[in-house]
Amino acid sequence: MTATDGGGAGNEAGAPGRGWEEIAPGVVRRRLSGWDETVGAVSGPGGTLLVDAGPSLAAGAALRAQLAERGWPPVRWLAVTHPHFDHLLGAGAFADAEVLAAAGRRPPWTRGDAEVAGDAVAQGVDRAAAERSAAALPEPGRLVADRLTLPLGGGRAAELVSLGAAHSGHDLVVAVRDGGAEPSVVFCGDLVEESGEPQAGSDAEPARWPAALDRLLALGGERAAYVPGHGAVVDAAFVRAQRAALARRFGVPDG
Ligand SMILES: [Zn+2]
Repeated sequence: MTATDGGGAGNEAGAPGRGWEEIAPGVVRRRLSGWDETVGAVSGPGGTLLVDAGPSLAAGAALRAQLAERGWPPVRWLAVTHPHFDHLLGAGAFADAEVLAAAGRRPPWTRGDAEVAGDAVAQGVDRAAAERSAAALPEPGRLVADRLTLPLGGGRAAELVSLGAAHSGHDLVVAVRDGGAEPSVVFCGDLVEESGEPQAGSDAEPARWPAALDRLLALGGERAAYVPGHGAVVDAAFVRAQRAALARRFGVPDG
């Protein structure tokens, strides 16, 4: 398996819109063009786990086709790191998968979600496409209140951990473990951003964000590759520095 595909010769691995990037054996991600959001995929004998689904039904369908072209097993699970349009609205292309999301004070989204569709339109998505994508949203099959271990087969497991509310009301991270070892890869959603300052919108709970990153670091440890919602793959030191910057930015005292 090559480190990247889907891009032309000479494209930089991991750059926005440049094809799939292999982070560990059977663990890939792609930075989509447009909003530079990451979509991840983890393969196991039991099926493929997709992490986020892109900004529209069409983007989701394209991801599905790309994974099939790579010869990956069908997407059996879709973990949504948080219900912002750029990570969620492709989910309708995976309506036959089990959809997992973080529990919160209210449902993470609803079928036909007008708020999510409206955000997409405000960010430049065509209104008809946004509404079609929202109308196709599958209901979550399981909501993760704390932690859920998904066996992917062959000794590989994905641990889904709810760390919200912080960046959004429903922040879910996904750690990939092989044979009970330390996680090799952690998909962080937008709790971590590398390509710019982390975005805090109206659904963010900034006061809880630094503590969420403490839990993220405890989950991933020192050696995992941390995959941000936007930007290049980072390490534990980067996450620790971002935690300190967020605490300063939001005036959150230590401890
Ligand atoms: Zn977000």
